[in-house]
Amino acid sequence: MPTAEGYQQKQYIGKRSRQLSYHLCMAALPEPSLLLSFEEARHLVEHHAAALHPRGKELTELMDGVGGGQAVAGQILAEPIQADRDFPPFPRAMRDGYAVRAADLSQLPATLAVIGEIKAGAADRSIPVLQPGQAAAIMTGAPAPPGADAVVMVEYTTREGDRVQIAKAVVAGDNIVPAGSEARRGERLLSPGLRLDYAAIALAASIGRSHLLVYRKPTVAVLATGDEIVDIDVVPKANQIRNSNSYSLAAQVQAAGGEPLLLPISPDEPTRLRELIADGLEADLLLLAGGVSMGKYDLVESVLAEFQAEFFFTGVLIQPGKPAVFGRIPHGAGTPARETPASAENQVYFFGLPGNPISTMVTFELFARPLIEALAGMNPRKLLFLSARLKSEIRTKTGLTRFLPAILSGEFEHAEVELAGWHGSGDVAAVARANCYVVIPPDRDRIARGEWVPLLLR
Ligand code: AMP
Ligand code: MG
Repeated sequence: MPTAEGYQQKQYIGKRSRQLSYHLCMAALPEPSLLLSFEEARHLVEHHAAALHPRGKELTELMDGVGGGQAVAGQILAEPIQADRDFPPFPRAMRDGYAVRAADLSQLPATLAVIGEIKAGAADRSIPVLQPGQAAAIMTGAPAPPGADAVVMVEYTTREGDRVQIAKAVVAGDNIVPAGSEARRGERLLSPGLRLDYAAIALAASIGRSHLLVYRKPTVAVLATGDEIVDIDVVPKANQIRNSNSYSLAAQVQAAGGEPLLLPISPDEPTRLRELIADGLEADLLLLAGGVSMGKYDLVESVLAEFQAEFFFTGVLIQPGKPAVFGRIPHGAGTPARETPASAENQVYFFGLPGNPISTMVTFELFARPLIEALAGMNPRKLLFLSARLKSEIRTKTGLTRFLPAILSGEFEHAEVELAGWHGSGDVAAVARANCYVVIPPDRDRIARGEWVPLLLR
């Protein structure tokens, strides 16, 4: 990632000269009752995400020639992909050995006449037609000859000149993949909404697609707030904290399929915060970090309210991340009307994420990610928890669903997990050591060693 300076200057989307109109008359703080359980908050976000649409399509190279990196890897497919021919296009030998007629092997050992050799890529005219009592040497990936219905693995054969002795029976179909059995020409293989991973890329390559239509990435404005927060290229004074949230969020946005746009850090002061929020509302989604707690200088919610914000939640019963805020603002409320709205709803969604770095990270994964994925055109998916055995007892308080940084270890099916030993929501070192979060339901205050616990992979 470029440095803070370069990144922010390049990406900064503000227009200083723009005249902003605010709807101060509408300003009202959200109801204090918008405190939801984790499940309620997650379902609400999923519900809103389901109504969103991606932002157009673009043709992208399967492979970026310059760095050798794959240009489509991780992007979201925007077109259906069909087989351009039968797969496999010919009956394909799956093993090195001998192509035979299974019926010839009713008596073992059987001796057959070898009438030729077929290697992968063999042309049609060089392929012999197999008659009863005959076999053809064949290599993996070669077309099975007409007349053959199975391949015997070379391990079960003994070659004697132009004859082969076979010690093991086969049934018709063994070790031959019939033409068209994997896919028929014209059959749909992939559908829009799929995140392109290596298997999908292999499929695209196998049908000769050097370019694929993918959805345009949604832009996600990232606004860190706090009087004490300074850019990472500034030497912080004793009372200052370097801005890490903009960078973790940018990386998370990218991983979710969005294009992060870092705004300058906002002080805890309404005029500048207002300006920067207005700039952020030009993106497809606005992420704020910090300033959503109950402190006197936590101004984010009240400034968002000036923009006619509709709040869906202003707190979630989780740790870390309880003060998380989710809502939306109509286009034109403090921002100029957009030519091409990101979604039919003509609204810009926002999240006010708590500023403690682990809270920011966790609340992004739990709530912001599904919305970005939807704007990116990805098919919705449910949050998946894995399980592992707890290595040592956890004691906590009831009332909140907890997502605690943890280390998953063990081997094969013996997965074990233990807390990363964190010192609260600001402990970036602990989360950097961790590779997952242990999820503790709100009704549990003690989880014994050896219990299976749900966890969220990182
Ligand atoms: P807040 O949510 O604004 O009350 O901030 C909670 C804690 O997170 C405070 O200790 C902040 O100093 C810290 N914090 C807020 N924003 C950032 C940031 N962008 N990078 C690092 N730490 C932050
Ligand atoms: Mg703050």
